Amino acid sequence: MDDNWATRSPSEILYSYRHGLLEGDDCVVSCGSCTSCCESGLAICINASEVETLNSIPQEQVVEILDLPYKHFHLEPVEGHCPMFLNSHCTIYDTRPRACRQFDCRTIALTESRPPGRTDSKLTNKIEDFLITDPWRDDEIGQVALQRARNIYQKQRAFFIALNIQESSADEVMAIVVLFGILRGEISEPSSDEEVLRDFLDQFRTWRAKRVREQRNLA
Ligand code: SF4
Ligand code: SF4
Repeated sequence: MDDNWATRSPSEILYSYRHGLLEGDDCVVSCGSCTSCCESGLAICINASEVETLNSIPQEQVVEILDLPYKHFHLEPVEGHCPMFLNSHCTIYDTRPRACRQFDCRTIALTESRPPGRTDSKLTNKIEDFLITDPWRDDEIGQVALQRARNIYQKQRAFFIALNIQESSADEVMAIVVLFGILRGEISEPSSDEEVLRDFLDQFRTWRAKRVREQRNLA
């Protein structure tokens, strides 16, 4: 699907991102010639079920990460950029990691998360450019829902840390966006924080079980 990167409302952007994460679809941001993600020192997560992707990357470029219930790897940056980014383009574009296909820089801007990777990066500049467009101007309801999602996330840090959702990580953005989805659907009748967290846990467990199932299917 094509998508002009600054013309959708924040609610549409966040809903679409959430749907992609939960269902495994690609994101819908039109990157055009932008390659800021590839050049900003991000470590890219790769699930062990992404066999084609792992086969297209030299083994020495990936590091196994041992802190999750499912096997996954990091494609670590080299000299501030992704090692697969050579001569100004992605050398494994057709088999790039799911994390690259699903990434949408606008969600970092909207959730006010700290951009991962280097603080002086092109990604940071891209996010600032997006915020200059005043994205919330026609989406007050979405802004209220997101504000509450952020508040719950900040207040309930221990809950999210127990789920291994770390600060300034892609999972942090995912958590806030999933909370937003729950709250945006219920903005006229806000639930208690506990009810919101219970819904969150249901969705999070479904998402994580899917990752585990994908790996079992390979075994
Ligand atoms: S910074 Fe945004 S527009 Fe640029 S490549 Fe990444 S997701 Fe696409
Ligand atoms: S794998 Fe490709 S798309 Fe992903 S960060 Fe590296 S160069 Fe960019």
